[in-house]
Order: sequence, then structure tokens, then C-alpha cells
Amino acid sequence: MQALRERILRDGKCLEGGILKVDSFINHQMDPVLMKSMAVEFVRRFASLDINKVITIEASGIAPAIMVGYLLELPVVFVKKKKPSTMENMLSAQVFSFTKNTTYDVCVCRDYLGPGDKVLFIDDFLANGNAARGIVNLVRQSGAELAAMGFLIEKAFQHGGDGLRAQGIVVESLAVIESLDNCRIMLRE
Ligand code: 5GP
Repeated sequence: MQALRERILRDGKCLEGGILKVDSFINHQMDPVLMKSMAVEFVRRFASLDINKVITIEASGIAPAIMVGYLLELPVVFVKKKKPSTMENMLSAQVFSFTKNTTYDVCVCRDYLGPGDKVLFIDDFLANGNAARGIVNLVRQSGAELAAMGFLIEKAFQHGGDGLRAQGIVVESLAVIESLDNCRIMLRE
């Protein structure tokens, strides 16, 4: 998606260790106009899918997911990264965090994800695919169907997308980073 590609090149910052910082328009300060354009693009790409729910993972997935849910007029469920003391009837899965180098549990209440749901997962980044695999695990446990996964930015050099696509999962990314070597942002054409 051209507008996102241009914005990444203009405002994205490359950190050591293959991390792209997009704090000025996605991850901390947010640009709602770009967010809306990205959601419109997801809606276009996923137009042929039969879905009844959008899911995401807190925190950075929530903004793009709610835009998509708003456009599709579908409920949005965000998977939590900490089990709330008040949450019963929950499903959980373990996820390794690339940016924080730790393992954490993700969880969702069975009341909001279950058999009969056909879900579209939306998140900000796809890197090694650990978060996405945790979501695939949760969706399978719930008995719901995963219709597709959409990411704002895929870091192709970390290959998370390869594993998901090899499983037959429909994966769409609005901008694909080929490399961040030497702190230069190389985007796929
Ligand atoms: P994965 O589990 O695919 O390795 O990483 C996905 C999660 O890690 C994303 O939800 C995102 O929060 C975080 N992440 C991975 N790579 C980057 C990056 O380059 N920049 C930022 N800001 N977050 C990242």
C-alpha cells in the first residue's frame, strides 16, 4: 500500500537488531487518517471472505482492528496479554516476544471466541510469527475458524509469514520490509 510505504520511508526509524520504530504514526502517536486508509485497504483485500468477527492482540493491534471492525460493522475482540483476575472461562496460549525477549500468556474469554465464529485477525507487525502462532493456537482451541490474517507491516526477513502461508493461512500485509540491514529500510516493491 503506497501511502504506508511512503510514510514508513519518511517517518520510520530503524533500531539495532532489526526493529522498525513507527511510534510517530502507528505505535504511540497514531495517524487516524492513515489508519482509516489501511483499514479500507484490508476491507478491499478481504472482501470475498465470510467473517463475523475481527480479532487482534493488545495493544498496538487494537487501533487498526477497530477501524476494520467499524467499516465492516463487526465486533472486535482483543486478546489480552495478562489474565485479568475477573476473567473466567478463558483460553490461553504462550507467546515468545521478539521485542521484549520474554514469554507471556495470551488469553481470551470463550464467551467472545467460539465455534461458529469466522474471524479475521489484524495486527501491526508480523515478524517471526510468534504472536500470530499464539493466535492460531487460541482460535483452534476455541473451535472458531480463522478466515485470514492481516498485518500493517510484515518483516519478510524474519520469515513468520512463510510459516503461516505454508499452513494454508491467508496472510495479507500492507507493507513488506525486505531488510533493515545497516539500519536502511528496504521495502518490497
Ligand atoms: P512476532 O511475534 O511476529 O515475532 O512479532 C510480532 C509482535 O512483535 C508485533 O505484534 C509487534 O508488537 C512486535 N514487533 C515485532 N517486530 C517489531 C518491529 O520491528 N517494530 C515494532 N514496533 N514492533 C515489532
